[in-house]
Formats: sequence, C-alpha cells, structure tokens
Amino acid sequence: MGVAAIIVAAGRGTRMGGGLPKQWRPLAGRPVLAHAVASLQGAGVARIVLVLHPDDMGRADIPQGVQVVGLTGGDERQHSVRSGLAALAADPPAHVLIHDGARPFPGAAMIGRLLAALDRHPGAAPALAVTDALWRGEGGLVAGVQDRASLYRAQTPQAFHYDAIAAAHAAHPGGAADDVQVARAAGLDVAIVEGDEDNLKLTWPADFDRAERIAKGRDMDIRMGNGFDVHAFTTGDHLWLCGVKLPHGRALLGHSDADVAMHALTDAIYGALAEGDIGVHFPPSDPQWKGAASHIFLRHAMDRVRARGYALANCDVTILCERPRIGPHQGAMRAALAAIMGVEADRISVKATTTEKLGFTGREEGIAAQATALLVRA
Ligand code: MG
Repeated sequence: MGVAAIIVAAGRGTRMGGGLPKQWRPLAGRPVLAHAVASLQGAGVARIVLVLHPDDMGRADIPQGVQVVGLTGGDERQHSVRSGLAALAADPPAHVLIHDGARPFPGAAMIGRLLAALDRHPGAAPALAVTDALWRGEGGLVAGVQDRASLYRAQTPQAFHYDAIAAAHAAHPGGAADDVQVARAAGLDVAIVEGDEDNLKLTWPADFDRAERIAKGRDMDIRMGNGFDVHAFTTGDHLWLCGVKLPHGRALLGHSDADVAMHALTDAIYGALAEGDIGVHFPPSDPQWKGAASHIFLRHAMDRVRARGYALANCDVTILCERPRIGPHQGAMRAALAAIMGVEADRISVKATTTEKLGFTGREEGIAAQATALLVRA
C-alpha cells in the first residue's frame, strides 16, 4: 500500500545537444534523472520505479535507492508506463505518481496537493493556468485570438489510484499523449491541481540554462558551527590571541600557544563540517602536537573546508576577558586570521566583552572565547 512513483526515462531524445538523452545529461553535477529521483524522495516518496531503455541498464550513474526496470513491449511512452505498473503489481501501492524523467524538480508541496486530491478523485494532475494571451497565426500574422480561460499547461507527475490506472492502461489501445488521456478514456475523473513553475520539462537548450539556475538555488548548502574554549592564566609576560602576541602580566596555560580565541574559531569551523573538534584531529595525548602553534589547527580546518567543497562566508569571534584590552588589536587580529585562513579580512570579525567582573573571567582567572563560522557550498 502507500505511494509509489514511476519515472519514465527511456526516451532517446537528444535535441538538447551533448549527444546524450536529456535525462542523462549532467545538471549541476549529476544527471537530470538523479534530480527527479531526489525531488520525489525529498517529497517523501520512498518507493520509486525507474523505467530505463535497455541500452541504459548498465550505466554507472543510475540513481541509488530505486527499483530499476527495463522498458519492454515497445518504445512509446505508454510501454514505459506499463513496464513500471507491472513492476509494482506484485505488491501494489494504493496510489501511484507517474513522472517524466526530464522534469528534474517536482516539488514536495505540489506532490502533497496531488496526493490530497486522490482522497476525492481517482486521478489528479498538476497544471498551470495559461496567463499569456493566445493567438492563432497564419503566415506570420495574427489571425485571431484564442480564449485562454479554460486552458492549462499540463505537467507531471500525474497521480492515480493504482488499480484504476493499471486497469485503464490495460484497456487502452495505445497512442495516448499522457496518462491523463489514458485515465479519461477509461472514464476516470482527473482533478486539476496547481502545478509549479519550477517543475519545468527540459526540452531545449534554454530550458537547461534555467534548470541550472534553479538547481543552484535548490542546492544552496549553508553550514553553521560554533566553538567555545577556556584557558586559565598562569605566570608569564605575554599571551596569544587570534594569532597576535600581546604583552601581558600573565600568560595563558595550555598545550601549544593556548590561543583560546583561535581554538574557539577552529572548533566552530570543524563544527560546521560536523567533523568533531581540535582534540579529534590533534589529540593532546600525541606528543607530536605538544606545543604546536594554533595556526596549524586553524589552517587544517580551512583545508578541510575546501576539501569538502565549501568556502567560509564569514566568522565572528568574541573574546571574554577584563584584560588585556582587545580593541586596539582588532585590526591586527583580523589580518592575522585572514592570512592563516586564506580569506579576506572582511569575512572575519573579532570583538571582545568583559563579564562585568563576574565569574572566572571577571575574577581574571582565565579567558574564554566563543566563535561562529558560516560555510557555503563553493
Ligand atoms: Mg584550547
């Protein structure tokens, strides 16, 4: 029971260029078809049957997590759909979405509207009202105006009660443009549900350009992390904060240079990557990191950012202490961090606050620092 989807992707059309059927052409780094699968999975459709041309069954880039069946019985669209319906027959779902693999972005909200409509109708299909004026033309001249009041642009997936559409396909003589036509031929009502402008069908090269822009927006991947660190004061005459050496009546106690602010920032970056913290990458128990300068940690974290395909959008460090005064050194600190991290200084904020003489920082037993880092897909 439940919902299943059939994605028909056996077409051979290469009008978009590139020598590949359009559903296999790369779009934002993966095949168009992979976007369609991911969109349906993202809408909560876990059971997906992919109907492929026999020539494509051995491809290495077939999306994962789907049931793949080869097209049989002919190479028209209806043969693909029948192949998909047959693959579901042994354990039939209550509802089935039949989708065209050349539409990479069937949105979750639209899928929800389709499935809701199946409570009241045996079929439901997404469509957009025609808003442009429609003309009839002859020889390059306007020959008349077409009333657009009852016209719609049809999309997929088209949604049906499985038993009803399976019976309709079995009874249909063939030659239907889509599954709505098959359903209507069997006397089934098909509700019109609001479609989605982003749910475009890739046909021409310009469609592909638009799909790239949509994919970019959808794939926007932002990761945020925070870090916090504390080091206690010990005897000494200077301390390190954000890579800058400050003369001071005490030093900070710790492995390495005890640069508490740089540690907090480094942990924020590891946190954004969900890659643990400094202690995971540079275990204090390992003698090779004893006394290591903190910029080694920060540089490593930024290397991980780039290796994972991200860039630092910005970071913000707050140092909590009564003394030393941070203000006069903010510029030098931002410049030092920028050089270590390989980013512009305007992406780095360093600021400080006292804790009004409250707590361990107020009693000047140590310094605390916290940091936030934001990463974006590069
Ligand atoms: Mg530390």
